[in-house]
Amino acid sequence: MDLQQIVDDTWNALADERGCGTPARYIPALAEVDPTKFGIAVATRSGEVHCAGDTDEPFSIQSISKVFVLAQALEREGLALWDAVGREPSGNAFNSIVQLEREKGIPRNPFINSGAIVTTDRFIGDRGPDEAVADLLAKLQNMGRDDDIGIDERVARSESETGARNRSLAYFMADFGRLLNPVEDVLSVYFRQCALALTCRQLADAALFLAFDGCDPVTRERMCSRERTRRINALMLLCGHYDNSGEFAFDVGFPGKSGVGGGILASIPGRATIAVWSPGLNRWGTSLLGARALAQIADRTGWSVFSGR
Ligand code: GLN
Repeated sequence: MDLQQIVDDTWNALADERGCGTPARYIPALAEVDPTKFGIAVATRSGEVHCAGDTDEPFSIQSISKVFVLAQALEREGLALWDAVGREPSGNAFNSIVQLEREKGIPRNPFINSGAIVTTDRFIGDRGPDEAVADLLAKLQNMGRDDDIGIDERVARSESETGARNRSLAYFMADFGRLLNPVEDVLSVYFRQCALALTCRQLADAALFLAFDGCDPVTRERMCSRERTRRINALMLLCGHYDNSGEFAFDVGFPGKSGVGGGILASIPGRATIAVWSPGLNRWGTSLLGARALAQIADRTGWSVFSGR
């Protein structure tokens, strides 16, 4: 299979539709990004990355960060994390509060905002917020084998300034005694993790452990246990796109995680990781063109986890 050809064909087939969808505007700094950006990067076991389009420009990974923080929180906290956050799809929007009251401040899963805020709290543990952010950044730089990976502080500030909804979720959970750290400390880490800026190439590279049982297939370094990695992939498939997860599984069939910056990270166990970026979103907050690109790649490669090929 000529992967580079597939990546090029997919990019060319969709290039005329660049700019489709609606970029996230509720975080003002994201509204300034050029909506016609479009990149596709596929990283394989050998570490080779097949790219097309805008794959060397950093973008705000937003909720894709929730996957990395979950992996790290599980490494720190182990199974106890699952006392604080569930493993079921929510069927609600990423920033929804409706289930939290009935379920006594325990979020449905680690990929909706409330669940990610709890996961971030456990990732911080007994450290200060700045130490936790420095640790996360160092891990990302190590996994992506690139010290240029950084945090866009302007995006983090912009989100904090307009973060009333996330503050509401966090204070509501704190009222149930679900957060171990001061609410504003947890939020300051959450906003900065969402503002991590990676290129498609760096993101596909940094996530390779997800597709290869928790190990970086190039350096053989273990990032996450085999069992946890398998379960993170399961959660990505079921909850990675919020109330659009069913549609994404139906159309694409890869464990994936979207972010409102327009990125989608897909993990195809045993084969590859794919990072796509196009800022225009569908109404559930998933990149419109990005999801279409992944559907085409799934068709061409037969890599859907539901396919027998
Ligand atoms: N930082 C965003 C928020 O908390 C992340 C949401 C997303 O990417 N779906 O609203």
